[in-house]
Parts: sequence; structure tokens; C-alpha cells
Amino acid sequence: MKPSLPANTPSIDQIFTLNAQRPDQWRALITLTRKWIAGETDKQPLEQAFTALSASESFHAYPGTLLLHAMEKALIAGRSDEFLTLAGRISFSILAKYYKNDPSEWMITPGESPVNEILNNDAERPGRPYFELLIVAPQTPHTQRNVTLLHSQRRKEDAFIYEPVLVSSYQDAFCAIATNTNICAVAIFEGFGFKSRFPTPQIDNMMAALNISVDEDNLALQLTEQLALHRPELDIYLLTDQHPQDIASDPRASHIRRILYAVEEPTELHLSILEGINQKYDTPFFNNLKKYAYRPISTFHALPIARGKSIFKSDWIRDMGEFYGRNLFLAESSATTGGLDSLLEPTGNIKIAQQKAARAFGADHCFFVTNGTSTSNKMVLMAVAQPGDIIIVDRNCHKSHHYGAVLGGLKPYYVEAYPLKAYSMYGAVPLKTIKQALLNLKAENKLDRVRVIDLTNCTFDGHIYNTRRVMEECLAIKPDLVFLWDEAWFGFAHWSPFLRPRTAMGAAAELEKWLKDPQSAQRYAEQQQALGEHPTDEQLLATRLIPDPSQVRLRIYQTNSTHKSMSAIRQGSMVLVKDVDFYLIEPQLHEAVFAHSTTSPNQQLIASMDVARRQMELEGYGLVSNAIQTALDIRHQINTHPLISRYFHVLGADEMIPAEFRESGFRDFLTPDTHWSDTLPALRDDEFFLDPTRITLLCGQAGFDGTQFKNILANQYDIQLNKTSRNSVLLQTNINNTRSDVAQLIHVLLEISRDIDDKLGHAGPAGQQQFQQRVQSLMQDVPDLPNFSYFDQQFRDDTDGKIAVEGDIRTAFFRSWDPRSYEYIPLHSEECDRRLKEGPLMVSAKMVIPYPPGFPILVPGQVINQDVITFMRKLDVKEVHGYEARLGLQILKTTD
Ligand SMILES: *Cc1c(COP(=O)(O)O)cnc(C)c1O
Repeated sequence: MKPSLPANTPSIDQIFTLNAQRPDQWRALITLTRKWIAGETDKQPLEQAFTALSASESFHAYPGTLLLHAMEKALIAGRSDEFLTLAGRISFSILAKYYKNDPSEWMITPGESPVNEILNNDAERPGRPYFELLIVAPQTPHTQRNVTLLHSQRRKEDAFIYEPVLVSSYQDAFCAIATNTNICAVAIFEGFGFKSRFPTPQIDNMMAALNISVDEDNLALQLTEQLALHRPELDIYLLTDQHPQDIASDPRASHIRRILYAVEEPTELHLSILEGINQKYDTPFFNNLKKYAYRPISTFHALPIARGKSIFKSDWIRDMGEFYGRNLFLAESSATTGGLDSLLEPTGNIKIAQQKAARAFGADHCFFVTNGTSTSNKMVLMAVAQPGDIIIVDRNCHKSHHYGAVLGGLKPYYVEAYPLKAYSMYGAVPLKTIKQALLNLKAENKLDRVRVIDLTNCTFDGHIYNTRRVMEECLAIKPDLVFLWDEAWFGFAHWSPFLRPRTAMGAAAELEKWLKDPQSAQRYAEQQQALGEHPTDEQLLATRLIPDPSQVRLRIYQTNSTHKSMSAIRQGSMVLVKDVDFYLIEPQLHEAVFAHSTTSPNQQLIASMDVARRQMELEGYGLVSNAIQTALDIRHQINTHPLISRYFHVLGADEMIPAEFRESGFRDFLTPDTHWSDTLPALRDDEFFLDPTRITLLCGQAGFDGTQFKNILANQYDIQLNKTSRNSVLLQTNINNTRSDVAQLIHVLLEISRDIDDKLGHAGPAGQQQFQQRVQSLMQDVPDLPNFSYFDQQFRDDTDGKIAVEGDIRTAFFRSWDPRSYEYIPLHSEECDRRLKEGPLMVSAKMVIPYPPGFPILVPGQVINQDVITFMRKLDVKEVHGYEARLGLQILKTTD
């Protein structure tokens, strides 16, 4: 059968969705087969579907040519029952992943003992982790021989088992690593061509959009570069007939794990492949903790539950032991010896585990933190800045940054995110606002005191910065700025080729490359010339500024709550560092770690970060692709369902991000005819991009406020979520979601929608009007979001009569420790109104944070204005940190 695809089949390069569509494609094939057997259709559509399926299956080891040929033969011969049986068995094996553990799944007849020499070493397969090796090689008998030889190297003793996937072009190789999430290693034999046997419109678009051109002469190294860009975690091996040392000196060869002379023993390749996987699999701290747990140890240190004796021998608390199991207590220890290491002063396996995590996340250094990103943020701020330094910080950031400023005596210069008033939430801080802040500080001669730009990427609601552009333009104004990117929610993004360039470390890698490029200095010089000697602020704000590569110090810190997006136990957090001046910061960071860490870090937490790293390196790409795909599925199903969409709506990128920040013209993932290749220019250029996995679901049109709807989902349907706004809730998908979760959510929303529909049908005009009023109140009568006003004069340091934005939050914070320093003014009092009108100014003693929305509407030392009071009076939430309704607003008494 010729591999020509019928016009309406998905092309093989729908790489973003192809893997998710795989089960559907098989199911459709089975349905067609049944119809054919029942005489409801002739054979041709089935043949076409099978051809299309065979094309995309060529990127997977299973079912492989043996089974696909058997299916093809059955189809041609009209043995329909045999065809159906095979299709059913294979599709189930794919879904249930049986093929990974059971060698008989690869046989034409189940239970048949492997006759093929290639398969007969597999008796030991059960239990061993399985992966696939992509082999890119010209289609020649020689290649077949190489594959057979490589396969015959497998031994019972191997720690892992793999099956090869063979492709013979650059394009096919790219499709294979993009769609086949089992691939963990690639062996490239020189001599293959560029074009796929199949049409690849998406890849062509992508290459055109990103200006990638390929030179047919030197495909192996170019392919290496593209593969490493898309999936940096893959081990790449190059087999060449040239002198390996000639290739090794090419800078592109840095992505290659090992270069082998093609005629060398295949044993070398086989062992290298297993060794490469083992390096990722290896979790030094976790391994040692397991070893430690099984050693007979008498403890005389202070931790009674260690070894579990205080629990298992107890009459009263044995159930705790039964619940958690023995291993937890065997692995509990306060020791830093005996194979364990010290988190505060790591020299052994924790140090190695951190180095492995740094490499995996694309950083130079990584530090595990066992007290959450709340602590990571405070540590970084303390390490990089000192009292009196100015930090430019998103006012709407997590409270750990505000408290970090209090603790470190830093002066926050608050910058505002753009508001999304209709949904009672904030977006992210426009770059213009940040540049303006820097230019203002420059005009006030304070630029030398600005130490850090501190931003949240992505925000709770999914706004992703153009991290590279923000850093480039800020560095053009002050070349030694430190960046702290709070990526609490975004750690997983490193494993998406689409999102990675927008992570702090992804952008850092690109900036490093840019700094080394000799053309960069020229681009900078040209821009300087165009700007002239004394560019105005307007000019600087309107220009996409290029920094001076000879001046730039790249100093980037990222914090992530590993527990929020990966398989770490709650509170597991990482600090990732790429800082050319880290040698200056390291001793300071050390002090900051001492200042903020517990001296009793939890062993299980450290182990879980070690393991989370292993998981992401070996299967993160597939897990994250699945999370994104699941999110797109949810978005699509809610917004297109005829009944659900009457009451619920997922906000698209165009509703979350104003058009001015979507320069590429990208609208939303659901916009008709939008393909993944269209999102690439948006991802590269737009000021903001929406993380598809963070799904803002409007529930106001269903007559629910966010908190109410959250409670309904939790109490009646066991669906948990954490963030709400006045008229929305935030759903998020992560690496643990499955198709069943999507089905369950849609099922529940449908039930709720039906219920509303029924009730409205019986409510009569008065009831319907009441419902409309409720919707109107939730959707239209939304309060203005208050901006930061300003710090009171006693906490400011004005220059030339110009009100300073930054303030001494630390002094303000501790002022209220003196009981004579404050008073309470009830929010709903005449006194409050009088003070607003006539003064004296009301200055907040506290950080006041309502949940939702969860950002501080007041910080210590801030002057309270009408906007804040209006907002607080309209606020209908119960949980407001820093405010006791019984007492009123805590106000600092003014000194005059
Ligand atoms: C959750 C969160 C934090 C704090 O992280 P923990 O691990 O909970 O301490 C910091 N910043 C942002 C943006 C967060 O969402």
C-alpha cells in the first residue's frame, strides 16, 4: 500500500495534538472495520484510514512493522475478523501500555513465544523501565543490519529496556521526537535526507515563521541542533564515517552526548545509551536514603519517630504507623551522616542531586529549599540586595516578596499590572511601566541603588512574560540588574518546547547565545546611533531597546514551587541560578540560607525533589504535553458545548491579554484554523502569552460568584480548585490529569447547566428577572481595582520635591510594634470618610490582603485613599488578612 494520505486526514506534523489523537485514530479504525464487516461501508475508507494510521504509527516502536504488516495482509486478503482482532488488541495495548512490559504483545498471536531473534531476550522485561530509541539513518540494507546488531546487544542484566524507532529523514526525525513521548535517546547515522515521505505543512509553516533554513549538506549537525532545541533532555549520539574529532570541534556538537565512529562495535552505542539513561535515572539522595532506611541503626539523636519504634510499639498511635507505612519512619532521620548529607552545607549526595537538577533545568546552580517558594524568594532577596536598596516589584506579587523587603530593609518601588476589571483580577506588568520606573529612578539619580527587578512569571491567572525582552530592555537601561523571576507555578514549563523560551532559564540561555554573537555589538551600536546622544524618555519607551553586550552582566534567579507543578512533596521548592557574578553572591546566599532555613529539613521532601527531577527528565515532555493538551480540550469542550456555553465560558488569550500586548495578532488557541505553528511567532514576540493550562472559567453568567461556585464544586462534586475571583474560578491542569478528569468536569458542568436551565424554565418572569439581576451584579457591577497610592512622607526619601515611589516598608512594618503608635478606624464609619476628606492622612499599619483576589491592597506605610476604601467596602469576601472587621483599619498615628 502506498503511503499517500487522503486529503482530510490529519497530517503527520500536527505534532501538538497527534499523540493525544492516537487513541481516537485507533478507535475510528475499529469503528470503520465493524461497519465494513456489517456491510455498511466498502473497504476503501478503511484502507485510507489504515494508511493514515500507519504513517503516524511509523514514529512509534509499537506496534511496529511485524504487526502492521500482519494487519495490512489481513486487510488486503479480506480477513476482516483477523484485522479487527489485531486492531482491538493493539489499540488496547497502546492505551494500557501493556507492550512496555509484555513481550508477547509484540507477537502476531498472543502467547506465542518469541521466534524472532530480536525479541528473544525479553523474558526479563517485566519491571524494567521502558523507553524508545530514535534511529535516524538512510534507508539502506546497511542500516537494517546496524539496527539488528544494536538490538542483539540487549542482555538480561540491562537496567532498562528499549525498542528502536527507525526514520530516514530530518522531518520525520523531528515529528518522531515531537510526537513520541517514549523516545529518550536518538542515534543519528549520517547520510539521511531532509524531506519526509509524508506531507508536512505545519513544519513548513514553522520553519518559514521562524526563518529556519536547512542546508542539505550537513544535515546531521543541523538536526542535532533542532532536536536539542525542542527536547534538550534527549541523549543524542552521532555515528559518523568522518573522523569523529573533526565533528567534535564544531560548536553544534555540544548537544551530542557521544560521537562514535560508525563502524565501531555496536556494543559501545548500546552501553552508552543505557549509561545516558542511567545518569538521569540516578537519584543520589533518594538512593542513599533508601539504603540508610534498611540499615540496622540505633539512634541517640533527637527524633523519636525515627525507625518508627515510638509508633509501632505504642498502644495508642499505631494507626499512624499503619497509615503511613514503615518506610516513612525508617527514612526519617535527623542525621547528616551515614550516607545522608546536610541540606544547609551539602558536600555529598545532596550536592550532586542539586547539580543534576541545575543541569536538568538549564541553570548553573540549583538549591533545594524545604520551606516552599515563600522562603526561596526571601532567601534570594536577602542574598542579592542589602538594606536601602531599591527593588522594582510587581505590587500584585506573592506576599513573600513584600515580607522579603520588610526583612531585608529593601525599598519596594511598586509597579502595577494592567487590570482586568471585568473579572476582578490583574494581568501582568507592562514592560513600558517597568522601563518608565527605571527611567524615573535614573532621573532622580537613584539608578545605582536599584538592585533587583522582581516579577511573577507566570501569574496565578496564567500571564506569561516575554522574559527575554523584559531583561534585554531593562539591561539596556542598567546593565547589571539582577532579575528574580518567581516561577512558583511555572517550573514544569521547562519541559514544553513552546513555553521554555519564556521561562527565566530559557530566556537566559537565549541571552547567553545573543551575548556571544558578534553581530549583537553591531546591532547595539546601530541603535545607539539611531537614538542619538540624548534620547528622550518617550523615544526610549517607544524603542525595543538593545543592551550593550560589552556591559551586560547576566544575573538571573528563578524560584519554583516544585510541589506546585511536579512530583515533589508539599513545600519542596528550588532556586535556580544563572549569574556571572555568582561568586560574589554565593557567600551571601549561604548566609541567607542559614537565616531562613529550618535546621531540620525534611528528608522525604529532599528525596522528592531528587525524584521529581528524574521524572521530568525521563517523561516530563510527555506529561507536560498531556497537561497542555488536556487544558486545550477543556477549553474547547466548554466553549463549544451548546448548553454549557450558555452559562459558562473559558476566557481566551484575547480576553486575558489586551490586543496591544499581542503584537503578532495571535488571538486564542480556539480561534478557528489556529495551528501550533501559528503560536510560535506569538510565543517569540508578543509581550504577554497565556499559559493554556491555567483556565479562567467565568461562572458569573451562571449566577455564581467565584467562592460560591468553588464550594459547589468541592462539596457536591469532589472537584477541588484554589483560586476564585468575583465572577470566575481558576481551573488548572497539570502532569497528573487524564482524559477521565476532563470527562468528569464536563459531565459536572453539564449537570449544573441543565439544572439552571430547568430552574429558570420554572421560575416565571420574576424568578428569571432575579437571576438576570444576579448575573448583572456579578458581571457588570464590578469594583475598580485600586492602584498603589504612595508611601507616607515619613517613609519616603523624596528628591527635588518629587514624591518617591519606593518606600521604607520595614520601618513602617515595625512601627506598630509600639502599642501607642496606632489606632483603629472602622471601615464603614463617618470618621473614615472625614479623615479621607479632611485628614490627617490615614496610613496603613498592616499589609491587608483580601482572599480573593489575594494581592495586598495595602502595605505598611501606604497612604489609604478613597479608591482603597471604596474597594474594601464593596468587597464581599470574609477572609482578609491584616484586617479585623471587628476593630477596623489599623492606622499609624501621624507624628504631627
Ligand atoms: C505559591 C506561591 C508562592 C509561595 O510558594 P510556596 O511554595 O507555597 O511557599 C510564591 N509565589 C507565587 C507566585 C506563588 O503562587
